[in-house]
Amino acid sequence: MIDSALLPTLGGYINGEWVMADSGKTLTVTNPVDHSELADVAAMGQPETERAIAAAEQALERPASLEQRRDWLNAIADALTQNREEIGRLLCLEHGKPLAEAQGEVDYAAGFFRYAANHIDVLAPRTLDEQPRDCRWTIHHRPAGVVGLITPWNFPIGMIAKKLSSAIAADCSSVIKPSSKTPLTMIALFTLLEREVKLPAGKANLVMGSAGPITEALFAAPSVRVISFTGSTEVGRELIRQAAPGVKRLTLELGGNAPYIIFADADLDRAADQLMANKFRGGGQTCVCANRIFVHADVAPVFAEKLAQRVEALQIGDGMQPGTTLGPLIDENAVKKVARHVDDAINKGAKLIYQGDASGLAGTFHPPTVLLDVPANAACYREETFGPLVPIITFADEPEVVRMANDTDFGLACYVFTADEARGQKVIERLRFGHAALNTGSGPTPEAPFGGMKQSGYGREGGLEGLLEFTEAQTVPVG
Ligand code: NAP
Repeated sequence: MIDSALLPTLGGYINGEWVMADSGKTLTVTNPVDHSELADVAAMGQPETERAIAAAEQALERPASLEQRRDWLNAIADALTQNREEIGRLLCLEHGKPLAEAQGEVDYAAGFFRYAANHIDVLAPRTLDEQPRDCRWTIHHRPAGVVGLITPWNFPIGMIAKKLSSAIAADCSSVIKPSSKTPLTMIALFTLLEREVKLPAGKANLVMGSAGPITEALFAAPSVRVISFTGSTEVGRELIRQAAPGVKRLTLELGGNAPYIIFADADLDRAADQLMANKFRGGGQTCVCANRIFVHADVAPVFAEKLAQRVEALQIGDGMQPGTTLGPLIDENAVKKVARHVDDAINKGAKLIYQGDASGLAGTFHPPTVLLDVPANAACYREETFGPLVPIITFADEPEVVRMANDTDFGLACYVFTADEARGQKVIERLRFGHAALNTGSGPTPEAPFGGMKQSGYGREGGLEGLLEFTEAQTVPVG
């Protein structure tokens, strides 16, 4: 069982108090590297969520000044930075990603709080230069109300940072539900909110447990005005349905199926290096990671070879061991999905270029795999693989690759590599993805808005746009 100074309890946090589930039930958190049990955390439900919402409602009655909120945001960024090693360790143990990567995620999370602190002035009231109807007009960014924040397991600290930084900046109070697979990092965050930041009771509340009863309570409460969700498109669709009766606002950061396009004139070494960093982060379990790699037919075999050499150098194993660059997948279902995608593509004519060796490892591993000539009817072309598979698809010309890249219901991230920047920009104009990178495999950053088009969701996190997600504009003409 895990031992950490940041886990003084394994309970939720409601109205400034650590609490276990009313029922006494717990849920077990395991380490995907060897299935060992890490902790039994409180498995809460509807009554605890209702109490968390009530506490959040009371906290809303005590508005905080912009300066106070800036101080809290800076204090959270500082606390995360000072505790990056221990939070990273907990994250590595419950998620499986390599320790250095996990600690890098803590830095990434701190960046959202810092950015919000630095830019909170955009939420200050704005008086119009014009005076229509003989009135002085002022626009106030009011807190939207209580907000429900639901996060996935693939970035246990990064995803809550995106949401909570904007919620605090907007002076909303929140009820947070982490993924049942990775709640320990969230408990550690709440320990810091209590100990270091001294956030007032009720401002942020933590409930853990089965998603159904918790989200039902959130949707049923009139005071909960925004639900911000990051996770699968399947669950996102269900939330849209549940949001209708109470006309709740949703921010949805959903699944992706990112195209990674390499034209024949591209710097192939750079494209391969960037693909390694993009594709294998988190074991390939990121919403922005390249899912379909489109390479011009003239250079596809050379590129596949360059990539295979790099993939061969990956060190598969326990993320806590120095040198590990590829950890386990989150669970058995994840391994089965990658294996199904590999088998299906090979059965439909794809060539196996390289497959690593994960035999002898006890946890939920899938070896990194490179496939060439993957056909458009392969499952990995249509579905998000969420694992260490690189399916290379060849194309002949620009119109064809634009059509293929857009041939998906998702629209989260895409990447284009070419030596001709004008051509790259022209192609990007026609790609329907919220994050469209040229000659880089870089994903989101706290300073820029990030979010999806099409069925990858709506709303933006990060940047100035993200700071407005939990606000309501109130327009006040004074006569
Ligand atoms: P998930 O199964 O949709 O779960 C996400 C969160 O929703 C978890 O807290 C989960 O709780 C909860 N949940 C599950 N069923 C629910 C329901 N019926 N109603 C309300 N909440 C529910 O997704 P995941 O497997 O954790 O994450 C992977 C997915 O997230 C991928 O599709 C990935 O692309 C997407 N993602 C998107 C972004 C983005 O920014 N667009 C970022 C990261 C990940 P339990 O754990 O308790 O079931």
